[in-house]
Amino acid sequence: MQEFDYICIGGGSGGIASANRAAKHGKKVLLIEAKAVGGTCVNVGCVPKKAMWYGAQVAEAIHKYGPDYGFDVTVNKFDWSTLVKNRQAYISRIHASYDRVLGNNQVTLLKGYAKFVNNTTVEVDGEQYTAPHILIATGGKPFRPDIPGAEYGIDSDGFFELDEQPRRVAVVGGGYIGVELAGVLHALGSETHSILRQELPLRGFDAMLQETLKTLMLEEGIDIHEKTEIKQVTKLDNGDLELTLTDGNTLTVDCLIWATGRKPNTATIGLDNTDVEMRHNGQIVVDKFQNTNVEGIYAVGDITGQPELTPVAVKAGRMLSERLFNGQTNAHLDYDLVPTVVFSHPPIGTIGMTESEAEAKFGKDNLTIYRSNFAAMYTAVTHHRQLTSMKLICAGEEQKVVGLHGIGYAMDEILQGFGVAIKMGATKADFDACIAIHPTSAEEYVTM
Ligand code: FAD
Ligand code: NDP
Repeated sequence: MQEFDYICIGGGSGGIASANRAAKHGKKVLLIEAKAVGGTCVNVGCVPKKAMWYGAQVAEAIHKYGPDYGFDVTVNKFDWSTLVKNRQAYISRIHASYDRVLGNNQVTLLKGYAKFVNNTTVEVDGEQYTAPHILIATGGKPFRPDIPGAEYGIDSDGFFELDEQPRRVAVVGGGYIGVELAGVLHALGSETHSILRQELPLRGFDAMLQETLKTLMLEEGIDIHEKTEIKQVTKLDNGDLELTLTDGNTLTVDCLIWATGRKPNTATIGLDNTDVEMRHNGQIVVDKFQNTNVEGIYAVGDITGQPELTPVAVKAGRMLSERLFNGQTNAHLDYDLVPTVVFSHPPIGTIGMTESEAEAKFGKDNLTIYRSNFAAMYTAVTHHRQLTSMKLICAGEEQKVVGLHGIGYAMDEILQGFGVAIKMGATKADFDACIAIHPTSAEEYVTM
């Protein structure tokens, strides 16, 4: 039995961050990773997704905007495999950098699948390891509905394994992953069908964002099949997939991507040998300090039911190590006002309450809503004008900004700074007191 001060199960966003921070405070740390260091984000999430999204931006610049900026553009071909090769080379460099930092911090990295033996011990390949503090940061995996032929489709993990560009693709699901992958594939030239079981994508987002995104997806040429689900998938003799939809139509594609949500990796990690409390959906119950109900076992990241975002897992992991190993007894992540970006086409940035949430909390009469709609200047000199829509939701007489939402060019980069201001409790007057930066899209937020 090998003894450590701290064991982190899962070398993804949360586990690595917590392990490194604990080691920096002088602790003897074991990090156990079953697959590739970096977890979902680095290998099959944020990083490869953003690389594909940038590829899509380049395609749009060449085809949609280049000619009106005076470029006589002739493109002989787009080589998907070149983009994939360069993306994966970048990921290899990130792996090397993680290995270096873990090594410098003297974190012991063990490759293997960890299972709990009891509340203080885990087993990997027949060897047992114990510590007074054990973090579970095992992340999630894609979920697909149980319908006939579902196995002929792929999920987001499979998307990143595609070595050829699909010609005709159906993306099922209107969450983050569904709209992001549909946008990328369409911009890169695939005939793209988005299959939504609701009328609008991004359930739970501000209605302005949902409606504008749908309008823009349709304008761009994505074929949206709304209020529709797939009943059955049939593989035809020529390899095509025939999708039987609940609206009575059939659709033939050569690639089907399930982007129908994710579920936590908690079913096979031996939690039945512990007393750790779970929800029916496999999420681990934690308090604001990431404590489970068992003393000495903690959980962070996608398995906890908290926002499934890399910076959330990272910060929760670091705060936990500050609390456990650096005497910061109250250190914890404040889950209020988490900014988030959807890398749709165009991107969405959002923080705080939706208009309907704010109405429910403050009452309609106590809200002041500011809106701005305009063609992003980048597109204004071209035939492909693209709408930007922004909204500020302010509450009470002092007009505290309780929600900021935007969809449009550069919204992905605009949000972060406004997030700081809102986190500090900014009012509309504080926004107005900041001189605009001209000409930008962001200036609209301080001139509404
Ligand atoms: P993970 O990063 O998933 O890490 C868990 C690790 O644990 C994995 O490496 C797994 O192999 C390992 N593991 C599991 N079980 C065991 C075991 N028993 N023993 C040993 N190891 C084990 N978030 C953003 O903020 N921005 C984005 O743009 C973004 N894009 C995304 C795009 C996609 C397609 C996906 C799927 C996700 C995206 N996310 C994004 C979400 C983000 O990737 C996750 O929120 C984040 O990775 C969660 O971190 P984690 O530490 O909880 O788990
Ligand atoms: P989401 O939960 O966001 O979306 C799942 C989508 O699939 C919803 O539109 C849902 O519809 C639909 N759906 C679920 N079940 C079915 C079904 N049986 N048939 C048809 N449609 C179905 O999950 P994602 O997988 O897109 O993303 C998971 C998480 O990963 C996100 O919540 C986010 O936190 C994170 N992520 C973050 C990104 C970022 O920061 N940019 C990018 C990608 C992921 P309905 O609305 O009706 O439930």
